[in-house]
Amino acid sequence: MSVKVVKFGGSSLADAEHFRQVAAIVKADPERRYVVPSAPGKREKSDTKVTDMLYRCYDLIKSRSSMESIDACYNEIRARYTSIIADLGLDYDINGELDYVKNAMLHAAGRGYAASRGEYLNALILAKYLGFDFIDAENVIFFKDNGTLDEEKTNAELSAELDKHKYAVIPGFYGGTPNGTVKTFSRGGSDITGSIVAKAAKADLYENWTDVSGFMMADPRIIDNPCIIKEITYRELRELSYMGATVLHEDAVFPVRSAGIPINIRNTNRPEDEGTMIVSHSLGYDSEHVITGIAGKKGFSVLTIEKDSMNTEVGFGRKVLEVFEDNEISFEHLPSGIDTMSVVVASSTLDDRREKVMNAIVRAVRPDSVFIEDGLALVAVVGRGMVKAKGTSARVCDALARADINIRIIDQGSSELNIIVGVDEDEYEDALRAIYSEFVKA
Ligand code: ASP
Repeated sequence: MSVKVVKFGGSSLADAEHFRQVAAIVKADPERRYVVPSAPGKREKSDTKVTDMLYRCYDLIKSRSSMESIDACYNEIRARYTSIIADLGLDYDINGELDYVKNAMLHAAGRGYAASRGEYLNALILAKYLGFDFIDAENVIFFKDNGTLDEEKTNAELSAELDKHKYAVIPGFYGGTPNGTVKTFSRGGSDITGSIVAKAAKADLYENWTDVSGFMMADPRIIDNPCIIKEITYRELRELSYMGATVLHEDAVFPVRSAGIPINIRNTNRPEDEGTMIVSHSLGYDSEHVITGIAGKKGFSVLTIEKDSMNTEVGFGRKVLEVFEDNEISFEHLPSGIDTMSVVVASSTLDDRREKVMNAIVRAVRPDSVFIEDGLALVAVVGRGMVKAKGTSARVCDALARADINIRIIDQGSSELNIIVGVDEDEYEDALRAIYSEFVKA
């Protein structure tokens, strides 16, 4: 029997109605054996996530606020859980657990412990509701002293533990440390737990259930109702996520990627939708579009260095990059010509080091001129379908020209997986629309 690990995000477990949907999804497929829940998320836009409520409560305790305000804050958390249990008609009294957590928080439990209880309590309820075993992540997911995940120990001990349970719920977001405390991953980290569990369970599939029907081809705030990507490789996903597209925590791909386990992004509210499959290698590529997705970001600067016959000067590039290294600035792109070299960086990383960097470059390579231009937006057009396909960059340029948008830089990696164009920030949205309609809704 194959094994599926299913992770449900906070919005999928925000109230009793969502719990019912989740249970229906889990029970619809006996291969869905290991369930990783987040803490209850927002029920509507103005609502507060339980994780944020726990952080607030912890801060109130730390700042020695009045017991009244601490009680008021904690009672809201209590109400979230007790109302889910009551609405589900579940015969389970969680008040003892809630009292214990509050007490621990009042008596020096750390910030990680406080935040992790959102997942812990939710997993207790979900395990009861599903009739599954409960495995506390604290005992099977291990961090090292330096705060990084102890992958080997976690995989070995978690694997052995999972073997003992046919069906189990494992709370997301946290693990244990060598000194017996609880530590969380960064925000959104239940995605990472799901991936770690999938690897340890040698799962055939990691289903990540959220509130969208998959990864969209472009930002829905800019493109109306963008198409959903049916299949995307890990590399394409990295390119798009790096440029600002988000659905999954960045670090969630590593455990399953190394184990060759695909991730399926699914929508709890529309379980009939197939969602997006994230795979190591495409399982036969037949997308109707040449590109997989478009993403982008504003806030870049270009530092341009001009010097006649720069191309013949051995070591020129190294000397320039050394200046960036010495100033601890990482660069994004390096478009260069015969007599010019440009370094694209996130404007925020330049800060107050502009003069210092320019002076150091003057000393290092004696250029004819060096200057910085701000206000650049980068748009990445990503797709494995572009590899060896002819005319893709021509289509990108043409679409932008027709929309009367000037391309300030253009860069295509030799992997041919992406084309990056830099445009003025105030033309960013139009650029995205022009490229999207060229490739998707032409
Ligand atoms: N509950 C945590 C957060 O809000 C972790 C997660 O949902 O993945 O960040």
